[in-house]
Amino acid sequence: NNVSIIVFDKTGTLTEGSFEVVEINGADDLLMLGAYGESMSNHPIAKSILRKYGQEIDQKRISDFKEIAGKGIEVKIDGKVYNLGNKSYIEGLGITVNNPSTVGTVVHIVCQGKYLGNIVVADKIKETTIEGIKHLKKYGIKNTVMLTGDRSEVAEDIAKKIGIDTVYSELLPQDKVIQVETLINQGAKLSFVGDGINDAPVLSRADIGIAMGALGSDAAIEAADVVLMDDDPAKISLAMRIAIKTLRIVKENIVFALAIKLVCLVLGALGIANMWIAIFADVGVMVIAVVNATRALRLKK
Ligand code: ADP
Ligand code: MG
Repeated sequence: NNVSIIVFDKTGTLTEGSFEVVEINGADDLLMLGAYGESMSNHPIAKSILRKYGQEIDQKRISDFKEIAGKGIEVKIDGKVYNLGNKSYIEGLGITVNNPSTVGTVVHIVCQGKYLGNIVVADKIKETTIEGIKHLKKYGIKNTVMLTGDRSEVAEDIAKKIGIDTVYSELLPQDKVIQVETLINQGAKLSFVGDGINDAPVLSRADIGIAMGALGSDAAIEAADVVLMDDDPAKISLAMRIAIKTLRIVKENIVFALAIKLVCLVLGALGIANMWIAIFADVGVMVIAVVNATRALRLKK
């Protein structure tokens, strides 16, 4: 009811969270290496590369798999060390990357310190995202924020398309918590919407944590206050409408019940009230308040 800032995670929340390979820049076997490197990851990027590769993975060739949240993967394929991940991760290893001009999330691939190339994957914006964001403004949301670990080009592109006010990109999972905490400390009531892949801590830290129920992890559902069972971001404004209406009914009932009781009290003190008025002031008022409260079950489309 009092939320004025809504913070969204990008992948899986505003976007479908199912990527598609749009470009492969490198030698013929790059897709195969990408698929082997990502084969033990559950990340949506990993799944998209495996889907594109579409062939059986020989698990015996893979060892020492390590996933670095918000960055990428380190793994051994046929005994050689591979690093797969975003620009900041690969550059952090002291390796120069090639940046493709296509807008998309880039998975750079490195073998034993040698740059091999990259695979570009892209995500789709959910059908209801744009409308959902637009509705929020009607319910008093002053600021919509998007947080993502993705590169800034992709983040800015999506934010522009869906009408998000503020964007913070290239964040590690812990940076997301810090960012949300900074916003909370400014005093505004804040809601965070995420799928819980790397963001369960933020979900529990926000005043109202909203999780994606279908795509989201169990940890997310556990940490959240509200769960959207169909992952539809347009349902956030519906939740706000329910909250606003419910609170209005609660206030109506309190004012109504106290007013009637006060009147009956005065009448009683003056000797005008009888037993039936007393029963009405108690049980009658209660029944009317309950009937009024059932209005919360009905919400206009
Ligand atoms: P988001 O903030 O969009 O939910 P994540 O925090 O999961 O994204 O990841 C941030 C970035 O880290 C991704 O955009 C990607 O560049 C990189 N990354 C994370 N996991 C992987 C992976 N398994 N393979 C390749 N890149 C990854
Ligand atoms: Mg995520």
